[in-house]
Amino acid sequence: VSIYKRRIGVFVIILLVLVPLFIFLNKAVEEDRTNGKPTSQAAEAKAAKPTKKREVVSEKTSSEDASQLAESEEVTVNKETSQESGDIEATETEAADEPRDVGLKDFLVVIDPGHQLRANLEKEPVGPNATETKIKVSGGTTGVATGKPEYVLTLEASLLLGQMLEKNGVQVIYTRTTHNVSISNRERAEIANQNKADLFVRIHADGAEDPNVTGLSVLTPAQNNPYTVGIYQDSLQASQMIIEAAEKNPAIKVNGVKSRSDLSGFNWSQVPSTLIEMGYMTNPTEDKNLSDEEYLTKLLTDIADGILQYARYKGE
Ligand SMILES: [Zn+2]
Repeated sequence: VSIYKRRIGVFVIILLVLVPLFIFLNKAVEEDRTNGKPTSQAAEAKAAKPTKKREVVSEKTSSEDASQLAESEEVTVNKETSQESGDIEATETEAADEPRDVGLKDFLVVIDPGHQLRANLEKEPVGPNATETKIKVSGGTTGVATGKPEYVLTLEASLLLGQMLEKNGVQVIYTRTTHNVSISNRERAEIANQNKADLFVRIHADGAEDPNVTGLSVLTPAQNNPYTVGIYQDSLQASQMIIEAAEKNPAIKVNGVKSRSDLSGFNWSQVPSTLIEMGYMTNPTEDKNLSDEEYLTKLLTDIADGILQYARYKGE
């Protein structure tokens, strides 16, 4: 019996020593693993961090920086995001809300509906530092068949043109949206300058003593005019693109581009400028056409196409 007791005693002592030793060693190994190589939980936490960071970056990209990204670049960003964070839906929805022609949304057109309710016969210099003066705003012409004043037609046409451009993602500012204003031709150009317009588009209709004269013309700053040296080339480019777009329409008689150095609205402009004489209100047929919604819409669609072509050309 005593031998058994002694053996049990030794066994108990061994157990008392070995069990805590085993527990101690096991714990030490586990701690060592946590410090050196990450446990599965730690590994998850570390992997999640960069994913979250990337999500923030992609959100910022789609909401704030996207305005500076071309469409193709944005698609690349979305792909990267979807591969690594799996957050596809949100980014794709945001991208779909962007205007279709992303390259045009930084392009600003200032549209000037020619003339106003009352002519302003006061005078202003024809250009910066000029001694020669010219009346601030002339009265414009009147439709021989419709009796419509030019300032009414130019505002109707300008608002339609602006809507067409805006639909294509272009920014539009008008020099006037009502008739009873007093804005000189110099001041109209200065509105374009102050807004740093990419193109200043002046909308007018023609008049002539001969009622048989018809057709659309685009006026552009003349080559050797000292006031418009800096804007000559781009203005001509825009004017030509508008004329070429209009020439594709068989319903419109197109006269071509005409150079002018006597217009205050060009001479005061520091941004590329063009003036569209949509047609002759002194010709009964053309006057009626210009007040026909279908004809005017077609004509302005062509003008908008020319402007959009110029905008894309400048954006390249
Ligand atoms: Zn006019």
